[in-house]
Amino acid sequence: MSKSCILRRKVRLHPSGVEILHDPVLNKGTAFTLKEREALGLTGLLPHAYLSIEQQCAKVKENYDRKPNDLEKWIFLTALQDRNETLFYRVLHEHIEEMMPIVYTPVVGEACQKYSATWRRPRGLYIRAEDRGRIAQILRHWPEREVGVIVVTDGERILGLGDLGANGMGIPVGKLTLYTACAGVHPCLCLPITLDVGTNNQKLLDDPLYIGVPHQRIDEESYDALLDEFVEAVQTVFPTALLQFEDFHNRHAFRLLSNYRDKLCCFNDDIQGTAGVTLAGLLSALRISGKPITSQKYLFFGAGEAGIGIGELVASALQAKGLPHDEAHSRCLFLDSKGLVVKSRTDLQEHKLAFAHDLEFCATLEEAIRRHRPTALIGVSGQPQTFTREVVQAMAEVNERPIIFALSNPTSKAECTAAQAYDWTNGRAIFASGSPFPAHVLNGQRFVPGQANNAYVFPGVGLGVTAVRARRVTDEMFFAAAETLAAMASEDDLAKGCIFPALTKIREVSAQIACAVAEVAYRRHLASLPRPLDLLGHIQSVQYWPEYEEYIE
Ligand code: NAD
Repeated sequence: MSKSCILRRKVRLHPSGVEILHDPVLNKGTAFTLKEREALGLTGLLPHAYLSIEQQCAKVKENYDRKPNDLEKWIFLTALQDRNETLFYRVLHEHIEEMMPIVYTPVVGEACQKYSATWRRPRGLYIRAEDRGRIAQILRHWPEREVGVIVVTDGERILGLGDLGANGMGIPVGKLTLYTACAGVHPCLCLPITLDVGTNNQKLLDDPLYIGVPHQRIDEESYDALLDEFVEAVQTVFPTALLQFEDFHNRHAFRLLSNYRDKLCCFNDDIQGTAGVTLAGLLSALRISGKPITSQKYLFFGAGEAGIGIGELVASALQAKGLPHDEAHSRCLFLDSKGLVVKSRTDLQEHKLAFAHDLEFCATLEEAIRRHRPTALIGVSGQPQTFTREVVQAMAEVNERPIIFALSNPTSKAECTAAQAYDWTNGRAIFASGSPFPAHVLNGQRFVPGQANNAYVFPGVGLGVTAVRARRVTDEMFFAAAETLAAMASEDDLAKGCIFPALTKIREVSAQIACAVAEVAYRRHLASLPRPLDLLGHIQSVQYWPEYEEYIE
């Protein structure tokens, strides 16, 4: 894959020496050999010294370490990605634990907030509301003819940070970076797209440097028409691509997913990817407590895309273990900004109705815990410090090993910190968060909090889908991904309280998830390619590995 991609570029562009140096896919910087420099017209364009990729990596890391803050590190890595993609992915691979929070959450959040001010080079496609009628033409401006994965956002709900308009482009770019870094989906197959439909963020509209169209978001009717044309154009121009919806407001997200999920190969990571990684976390947590999933009761704080997505997947998992539909749903309780989601409420949005049970209303989280005695508390509210000492201790009163997930991103939005969860339960909490927290020492014991990072799941799902050209993405695939991921946390990880495998194993984890997803695709007759004899071997063989190609014999 890698070689053919590079050769296609070379054939298409017949680039001169300077063009090669300015093409991040072809550029190797000082790693061009003297022979290559002569043959490709690079002599004189580079300083004399030759550095191997290992030497280049060491140099990059030294420079990275000198950056004074995380945003500068993000800017530095982005510049490297724009200059030399192979080197960027090699460095990222070598320092994945350290650099993942820079290229994705939490630092990508700050990067998006300052995207207009720091914007240097284009990456991906911007499609404006004004482009209606010619979206397919714009998609054809993308230099690659073969696209495997598209991540698209309209920038309205970036992480927990709200409407960032066109500045949200940092998210599709960052997510696709993780497809490559975590699963080895080839970077040439990845296309980030922002639908620039305006912004209702007045601060951005008042900013003379704002990179997006400076008007309010378009009305719902024009929005739906734009989305219809966009999806149709994707099917026409990139018919085998997987389309991932990312960071849409929940007012649109559920509708878009239900409109398109049976029409093309697509999914919504905020709903389904989050569900996959959180279900994996719950399954792993139950490996620690030794309890079956069917004996649990789940209380969600927040009933948006993340919460409802997780609830639906948990309910499917319970049904798969034999619980009837209604009972499975009754095990998942939700609290939103108005209180417990119950049948008697008249203000519920449609996506909450499946979880509106015939229960007495309660207004506060603490009250809901004391009355319903959940075994797991899952924070997906975007409201920081809402898991107070009283809330966490109420969970510890009704459970020997309370499961407490504070998933809101970025770090500043987490419902509680890892240290608080451990301190307030005297180390009994099984904790996970959305953004990373450092290890915590309590009474001489070291606790390593797990990060329920969607990056454990969506890259592997994408790899599996693209490796067998699956025609649809199903919830069953996310269920398979969750079971695979949960099984890959080692006994050693669990002993430290960490319910996810180390990120250093992410390529292996992604390959296994891809294999499980591909198995579902074959079982459900959704794969377009003939089944290889060795499915895992096939998946590993298509994984991109960042190393330089020899350009001349
Ligand atoms: P959303 O806007 O769709 O939903 C937020 C929900 O929180 C809504 O139901 C809202 O009513 C509820 N809420 C708001 N204020 C509340 C309050 N004071 N008390 C109770 N509920 C309240 O957003 P989302 O996509 O569901 O994301 C929610 C959070 O989850 C974000 O911070 C996001 O970063 C995080 N998230 C984490 C992961 C992960 O850890 N892997 C994945 C996805 C989302």
